[in-house]
This record gives sequence, C-alpha cells and structure tokens, in this order.
Amino acid sequence: MNDIAHNLAQVQRKISDSAERCGRSPEEVTLLAVSKTKPASAIEQAVAAGQRAFGENYVQEGVEKILHFNACGANNLIWHFIGPLQSNKSRLVAEHFDWCHTVDRLRIATRLNDQRPAEMAPLNVLIQVNISDEQSKSGIALEELDALAAQVAQLPRLTLRGLMAIPAPESDWQRQFAVASQMAVAFTRLKERYSTVDTLSLGMTDDMDAAIAAGSTMVRIGTAIFGARDYSSRQPQ
Ligand SMILES: *Cc1c(COP(=O)(O)O)cnc(C)c1O
Repeated sequence: MNDIAHNLAQVQRKISDSAERCGRSPEEVTLLAVSKTKPASAIEQAVAAGQRAFGENYVQEGVEKILHFNACGANNLIWHFIGPLQSNKSRLVAEHFDWCHTVDRLRIATRLNDQRPAEMAPLNVLIQVNISDEQSKSGIALEELDALAAQVAQLPRLTLRGLMAIPAPESDWQRQFAVASQMAVAFTRLKERYSTVDTLSLGMTDDMDAAIAAGSTMVRIGTAIFGARDYSSRQPQ
C-alpha cells in the first residue's frame, strides 16, 4: 500500500471510531479529501484507493485538475470548491465543480445560478457560516442564515444542501464540541425547512472527533492524507 492509500485508510478508521463512539453510523460521515496544492498524481493514488470526493481551494488550480481527470475518463469523481470565492471567478466554479461550500452572499449565489450550464445538474451549495472567527471576512452570521437560505433555495440552478463552517482553531475538545453544536442546531433547523438539506461540512484534522460527535456529515481533511503542503510554487490568483 502506498502512503496515500495508507493515510486514507487511517483517516477512514478515525472517522469510523469517532462515529461509533457517539452512536452514529460511519456511513453518515463523508470524507472530503482536500487536494489543494497537490499534483494530479497524488489524487490518482487516492482515486486508486477508492476516494471519490475531492476539495479544492483555488479556482484555477481546481479547474485544471477537473479537466485533467475528465480527459482521462475519470468522470465519477466529485469536485468540491471550498475556498473563498470572488465574483470574477464564479463562472469557472459554476462550469466545472459539483459543489461550492463557500456561498456567503446573495450576489455570489445569483452569479453561480446564472452561470451554471443548462446541461449540468444543479450546483450543490452550502452556506458558509462564520461561527467563531470574527476576524475572518468569510461566512455569514447565524442571524443572517434564514434570509440567505430562503433566497438561495429559490435559485433553480442551485441545490441548497446545507452548511459549512471553519471554526477558529481550538485545542479543547469541549470547546470544539460547543461550537460544532451551534452549527448542528442551525443545520437541523434548516433541514426541517428544506428537503434538499442533508450536509453539514464541519471538522478538520484537529477537531474532527468533536465535529462528528456534534453531527457533522462531511469532514475536510488534507494534510493527514496527502502530507504537508508546499505553497512556494503556487501562482498568485
Ligand atoms: C485546507 C483546508 C482543509 C484541510 O486542511 P488540512 O489541515 O490540510 O487537513 C479543510 N478545509 C478547508 C476549508 C481548507 O481550506
């Protein structure tokens, strides 16, 4: 087994352990392999090990990988855009990705809707909530969620699938759990109102266990699968 296959198996086992400890089924939690900055060869190894869902943060880099894998006939992969999205990049996300986790304003939702090609399935979107990090400009406050969700749910070329958050780093499990639980409450309320909502994208390497205990349905893991990232050769966008 290569390193990536080995790492994937280890992360999957951690997810299963976390789920079982809190009485959930491991199948309720999807592993999103975050492949930003990593070459197609690394993704190929993950695909060979059975991984299907990949997360990318940089539009241009993600589109290049999607085109590469489509050209190879690997069109059963699911591509999630998880980075901050500027309006001038929305078209590329709408035309190539399957999911966008970082919808945080109506303007970007409307653009994604208008730019989603008619022959593609509607783009799956998550609303990003700024749950704990007041410094960050990404994500809406929870108080704004009802209004934005109602608007996004009206857009025919988008499917509202749920919520995403990147909590501020916190080493204490109880505090991680408290923040994750706020997200889980908002997610449960949203799910009661919209039948398409089924996804809470929450939990990274250091807070995955608490996120799963609170109710996360998708964890985003990069380094533990692909190793440390090297940003030195990345083109500025
Ligand atoms: C990079 C990134 C991850 C993965 O981070 P790792 O520390 O490499 O596991 C998860 N979510 C988002 C939004 C990211 O940008």
